[in-house]
Amino acid sequence: MLNASRMATESSNGHRRFSGDGDFALIGRLLHDYVGPRKVTLALAVLCMMGGALMPPILAWLLDPAIKYIFIEKRPDMVTLIPLAILAVITLRFFFNYTEATLNNSIGQGVVADVQRDMFKSLVRLDMADQNAVHSAQFVSRFLYDATLLREGITKGAAGVGREFLMLIFLGGLMIYQNWRLALLSVVIVPVIGYAARRVGKKMRKATKKSMEETGELSRTLAETLDGRRIVKAYNLEDDATARAEHGIARRLKFLMKGVRARAMSVPLADFLGGLSLVAVVFYAGYEGIHGRLEFNQFASFIAAMLMAQQPVRNLSQLWSVTTEGLGAASRVFGLIDMRPAIVDAADAKPLRIAPPPIGGNVRFKDVTFAYHENAAALSGVSLDFPAGKKIALVGPSGSGKSTVFNLLLRFYEADSGRIEFDNQEIHTITIESLRRAIALVSQDAFLFDETIRTNIAWGRAGASNDEIIAAAQAAAAHDFITALPNGYDSLVGEGGLRLSGGERQRIAIARAMLRDAPILLLDEATSALDAENERQVQEALKRLMRGRTTIVIAHRLTTVLDADRIYVMELGRVVEQGTHGELMARGGLYARLYSREFSDDKPATATAS
Ligand code: ADP
Repeated sequence: MLNASRMATESSNGHRRFSGDGDFALIGRLLHDYVGPRKVTLALAVLCMMGGALMPPILAWLLDPAIKYIFIEKRPDMVTLIPLAILAVITLRFFFNYTEATLNNSIGQGVVADVQRDMFKSLVRLDMADQNAVHSAQFVSRFLYDATLLREGITKGAAGVGREFLMLIFLGGLMIYQNWRLALLSVVIVPVIGYAARRVGKKMRKATKKSMEETGELSRTLAETLDGRRIVKAYNLEDDATARAEHGIARRLKFLMKGVRARAMSVPLADFLGGLSLVAVVFYAGYEGIHGRLEFNQFASFIAAMLMAQQPVRNLSQLWSVTTEGLGAASRVFGLIDMRPAIVDAADAKPLRIAPPPIGGNVRFKDVTFAYHENAAALSGVSLDFPAGKKIALVGPSGSGKSTVFNLLLRFYEADSGRIEFDNQEIHTITIESLRRAIALVSQDAFLFDETIRTNIAWGRAGASNDEIIAAAQAAAAHDFITALPNGYDSLVGEGGLRLSGGERQRIAIARAMLRDAPILLLDEATSALDAENERQVQEALKRLMRGRTTIVIAHRLTTVLDADRIYVMELGRVVEQGTHGELMARGGLYARLYSREFSDDKPATATAS
């Protein structure tokens, strides 16, 4: 039933390699679903990117006419023309790069906003079981951290790879244009550099692994020596123990130094090999020059292009890893977006038809069995009858299955077997939306959203008028304290808002249920002890709320169910007793015991110790 694994498509260390097919599918989906609607922006961004990548090669090329016309041919007009051309190029470069960055970021931010919207939409629609399984910290990390990785993958990674790659192509083009033999010579060294980098990387990883092993070994030796100190001392083994430790320390040092040498080697080696290609190019250029196949102006522009090409080559691998990290984030994020609720309307589900109580609004459980996890039944063969317009109480020790009855009634979970009926309509034949619309839930935590009081009440029923909201608050004995607040109905409550007392929060929750005006009321009674005045007001508000509705109440204090039409006593997922308060007391069973415990305790509040 729990599908946490559906989300965990990726290990969390974030390190990831490009993995072919899967990644192409990911990129395809990103492009189609998220970048697709931004085609025009993307096209403009790519154009600007091409323009931007073209400017450095043009600058390198300009060295050629600059040297030729200014220094060799000494043409006076060129003294102003060439700098003007450079000015034009750098102006264009500014324009292209600025526009490209703006467009890219707008695509990246837009994609992330869409992705976040889809993640949220998917999450709120999930089944309760899956929502419970998605750890909220995990979701927050998907929502913020993975979204950031994805954005960087697009704006820094993919865009950067594109830009640097284009720049390399254009610079390469210029090098080939100036002298293709030289161009060929300068890239011969590239595979050598790649090979050397791989070798050094391998050495580094091997040394790191070995030194980690030695560290483990060393701490084992240390622990052993300390644990076995009685033997070490009794047998005069101090010198042997020291020798073992020294040996371990020396081996660890050896591997550490190997790692140090490899690491110290990597950058200088790459520079050296890159320098070798410069040696080869200069040597060959001299040869070509002497034979009149290469002019100095051409040579200068070639070398400029070659040096300029080093930066993109260096950047590419880092940008590539930003891109693959973004893809990793995308795959985790899509994992969440693709989760689907299992509890959905049947194809032929119809809206619930329910007459207002006392005629309609009865609910029935027939032999219902349910387990959250296999082999741990929360309800076993439970039959319950909630006649229209009556007040029925569920009591029993904590964990006996009372809240589970609510969960199944609201179809937060699906019963494993048995029938649940509303006015003779089986729960699966009813649309979920109409089912939940017929139910008002007032739960003990009296949850309020970080919104105004008015909004919190209005969530009871979409489109309720202001007068209706006030009427509901009045019936819930909340109107007076609300109007006494500085901002009245517009006061913010919830996490970021003002702090209300437990009783006040409950009365707002009751007003919400009042406004909902549903035929069936589910009441999860508050355990928190209220002061006498608050308690009286809450009880009165509840009494008004219950009037004319089928009320199912989970009672934590038995004093509040003395007047219930029927009481079901539950234990370990079964109904063990039922009847009115009087009948159950006369029986002298679990209920009677719970009841007498409630009154023998000094603390009056909680009979059903949780
Ligand atoms: P009560 O409301 O009477 O305290 P519950 O209906 O909450 O009892 O719990 C019945 C049984 O189901 C208990 O054993 C409880 O541990 C288990 N249970 C309740 N909610 C969940 C859940 N979301 N996931 C797994 N097990 C649960």
